[in-house]
Amino acid sequence: MPADFDKCRRAGGKIRAKRINSKEYMHICVKGGKSYAGYPKQYQKLTKKKAYVYKEDKKMHSYGDIDDEKKVIRVNPAKGDVIDTILHEELHKNNPGMNEKQVSKKATLLQKKMSIKNQRNLLSNFLRKKKNANKV
Ligand SMILES: [Zn+2]
Repeated sequence: MPADFDKCRRAGGKIRAKRINSKEYMHICVKGGKSYAGYPKQYQKLTKKKAYVYKEDKKMHSYGDIDDEKKVIRVNPAKGDVIDTILHEELHKNNPGMNEKQVSKKATLLQKKMSIKNQRNLLSNFLRKKKNANKV
């Protein structure tokens, strides 16, 4: 069959992709009202962006930090100001171009606009993304 497909393609037929299943698809060549099946192909695995892991760490010296290589955000609840810290580290994550001063200012501004419910939701999200807890 693919021989006909190649012929069709060389003859300038239209190539369409047809889904076979979740892992494979097939190219089909359409020309003159006829279609020719090509080779089944594997979908390229989408390189999923690795999600950040959130960690709670009372032993660290700062309020929090972010490791872009390891994709880890750490927050130190012992220091307090947890909401500000989470906002701060998330700003770093989403705006690599922002400097420290800009991030600090923006985090403070964002927090000012938050209701208690917003703050609770932020904490819930943090806990949902939290993996290992080094909280003792
Ligand atoms: Zn910072």
